[in-house]
Amino acid sequence: MEKKIAVIRGDGIGPEIVGEAIGVLDAVAELYGHKFTYDEVDMGGCAIDKWGDPLPQEMLDKCLQSDSVLLGAVGGPKWNSVPGDKRPEKGLLRLRAGMGVYSNNRPAKIWPQLADASPLRPEIVEKGIDFIIVRELIGGIYFGDRKTVEENGEQKAIDTLTYTESEIRRIGRIGFETARKRNKRLCSVEKSNVLDSSRLWKKVMHELAAEYPDVELSDMLVDNCAMQIVKDPAQFDVIVTENMFGDILSDEASMITGSIGMIPSSSLGDSSCGLYEPIHGSAPDIAGKDLSNPTGTILAAAMMLRYSFDMAAEADCIENAVSAVLDEGYRTADIIGSQAAGFKKTGCREMGALIRAHLTKG
Ligand code: NAD
Repeated sequence: MEKKIAVIRGDGIGPEIVGEAIGVLDAVAELYGHKFTYDEVDMGGCAIDKWGDPLPQEMLDKCLQSDSVLLGAVGGPKWNSVPGDKRPEKGLLRLRAGMGVYSNNRPAKIWPQLADASPLRPEIVEKGIDFIIVRELIGGIYFGDRKTVEENGEQKAIDTLTYTESEIRRIGRIGFETARKRNKRLCSVEKSNVLDSSRLWKKVMHELAAEYPDVELSDMLVDNCAMQIVKDPAQFDVIVTENMFGDILSDEASMITGSIGMIPSSSLGDSSCGLYEPIHGSAPDIAGKDLSNPTGTILAAAMMLRYSFDMAAEADCIENAVSAVLDEGYRTADIIGSQAAGFKKTGCREMGALIRAHLTKG
């Protein structure tokens, strides 16, 4: 099979982690007789430096003409003073909107080998952590009108949070469909005791529930959900929520699994062309030091194979290789935990090479 992948290396650790993911994809292609070609796309701070724009139209077009997009991360302190509409993150928002990827799916799953890296108490971790957060990605407050005005002698900043019924319904369906393929429990998270948009959210979710009688729907306020994720994460199967709540909760969920560096995410819309990336940012504090963990990006590449290219065996092959490398005790600095003794500390390049070396055709 031949596939064209748009590659956004981005800023900070982006180029090093994406380099390792491409190495793994090439090794899988060789093993299974596929051909992956890569179209390099500038986005984020590097695009601002080169083109004066975080995502020039021709770069977005390259993404739209690809079979899927693999992204490292964008942003960093160098661009902190750039005006709001030209910031690196604006490129990311434009990319998501341009691709029409309205559903962001982030697994929060603990690798048994990394249980000791979780900040939660062992008796909580032992109950298991394995849930998915389905986050609405191109609506809500991140995409609403915003402005800063002068009022009564001081500045006043305004952000707008809106959701339409159809925006809620299409993400709600992804939540129900995802739950249907798992343990059939869907928790809808909102703030309906305060926000109109959340009251509409809840109403639409309950309307949809009639179409999915096999899925058990529950409601939870977002503040309670933030507490429950650390108190009893085993209770969750699938969480569906709006853009900003999902952004915050999924970072919290990633922390309880041990490392932000291990977690991939997929963003999908109505076509098979998806956006795949690790959930972390550009980690400028460790960029260029060979300290980053490339596994989240490598697992994002595996998700791309599974969900966009229908290559389940190839995705399994990558996930099994990651598991084997962890079994052998190899750890990047972020996942070595408090019990460093007995583990073999590796850098980004070595981790990528180890995962490549452990790929075996099932
Ligand atoms: P971050 O995720 O970049 O880093 C948070 C902490 O986690 C840091 O200590 C970092 O060293 C560590 N970390 C992150 N990824 C790691 C990895 N793969 N291996 C080992 N350690 C890792 O978050 P931040 O510091 O808040 O943001 C840095 C920049 O990234 C900001 O400019 C922010 O806007 C941007 N950002 C980009 C994205 C994206 O591109 N999707 C997402 C979040 C943040």
